[in-house]
Amino acid sequence: MSYVDEIYDYVVEKNPAQPEFHQAVKEVLESLRTVIEKDEEKYRKEALLERLVTPERQILFRVPWVDDKGQVQVNNGFRIQFNSAIGPYKGGLRFHPSVNLGIIKFLGFEQIFKNSLTGLPIGGGKGGCDFDPKGKSDNEIMRFCQSFMTELYRHIGADTDVPAGDIGVGGREIGYMYGQYKRIRNIYEGVLTGKGLTYGGSLARTEATGYGLVYITEELMKDHGTSLKDKTVVVSGAGNVAIYAIQKAQQLGAKVVSCSDSTGWIYDPEGIDVDLLKEVKEVKRAILTEYASARKSAEYHEKKNGEHGVWTIKCDVALPCATQNELDLDDAKALVANGVMAVCEGANMPTTIEATEYLQENKVLFICGKASNAGGVATSALEMSQNSERLHWTFEEVDSKLQGIMANIYKNISEAAKEYGLEGNYVAGANIAGFKKVATAMEAQGIV
Ligand code: NDP
Repeated sequence: MSYVDEIYDYVVEKNPAQPEFHQAVKEVLESLRTVIEKDEEKYRKEALLERLVTPERQILFRVPWVDDKGQVQVNNGFRIQFNSAIGPYKGGLRFHPSVNLGIIKFLGFEQIFKNSLTGLPIGGGKGGCDFDPKGKSDNEIMRFCQSFMTELYRHIGADTDVPAGDIGVGGREIGYMYGQYKRIRNIYEGVLTGKGLTYGGSLARTEATGYGLVYITEELMKDHGTSLKDKTVVVSGAGNVAIYAIQKAQQLGAKVVSCSDSTGWIYDPEGIDVDLLKEVKEVKRAILTEYASARKSAEYHEKKNGEHGVWTIKCDVALPCATQNELDLDDAKALVANGVMAVCEGANMPTTIEATEYLQENKVLFICGKASNAGGVATSALEMSQNSERLHWTFEEVDSKLQGIMANIYKNISEAAKEYGLEGNYVAGANIAGFKKVATAMEAQGIV
């Protein structure tokens, strides 16, 4: 059996009941097959793949807190410090009831390659909790975040592990966690990114993932002789990534006609009104029915029977920006039947493996999240740089660095795919380019 196949079996055996982690590993290993098989005996002897798929450290902890009624609640906290070969662990924290060890491991594993692709010195990590922030008061959120940090603080630090936001963790949660870290450690350091602008945050970090996604999509379009101007774009999600992807796509002349949340989706043929969407989701924290009632041109469709809705809308470009496995084979078929030209992932692993293969077989240009949503973590690394030099860069400075980073990622993944005879396969290109730097660093650092 080939080393790659052996490792996939090894991961399934050692990590039972973690399907998302198996899926993420499978996608990466398939892409690396040609690279690994060239040097199979060397890699096998070094157990390089076993080391790559095994986190350096896994931290599981209890998070007790008291709700507004005086009832004690208990949640499960996680921090996976996956790989520090090229820099301190870096990756977001997710607060969502679906969080479990397998989900955090899939996200942490992907983060290794994504962070490598940014060209910046950051290793891979991820964390979170099965806490549901929905419907909680501000005081409950604060008490929860303080309890979470009361355990997490001992494992992180500006040169060790620097968490950020993800689903359910935005500026408010980062603020409460930062306050508690500072209080316990008595150190004012850049231990978290995504901070507010008054206490060490970076301009353009809020926008970075969505903007970066659109910058790389535009690079892809340019490389194929066109641009986003006048294209119809379909977006899923209505959170941080989706909102700023919609905003930037519209600035570049595209018409974005959809968004979605966990309750349903919006079709707005006149183009999404971003200010209204921000008001509904960022300020009121309401559901999308409120968007539809405030805007005549919009239709709201409730989510039924696990349908994903937005992918049935005719479009040129699709940007999945909500969550994992939200675009399956049926969705991919609907997109292809409607003549989609490109799919670029804003979320982490939103497209199933079968859907990805179907899109690629049907010549749809496809960029996977670890390349196309890397703008968020790249800008987090720029926030770390500003914190270290105790300086603030302007919005334009950060945004232009972000554009440069996304253009560079596109170039690197295209070239890596070409080098291995897989021209146009940006999934393989991303995994190969991300892997090579990490593998070289791991080999140089010996058996650790
Ligand atoms: P947010 O919490 O801001 O928004 C998530 C959006 O997706 C919300 O609209 C939410 O609906 C919807 N959603 C979440 N889970 C589900 C679900 N199970 N089913 C249907 N809809 C769902 O998160 P982000 O925008 O930050 O993150 C979105 C994706 O992008 C995630 O995959 C994340 O890992 C990835 N990502 C985020 C980065 C960042 O910088 N924020 C960086 C790189 C990747 P509702 O409003 O109802 O909650």
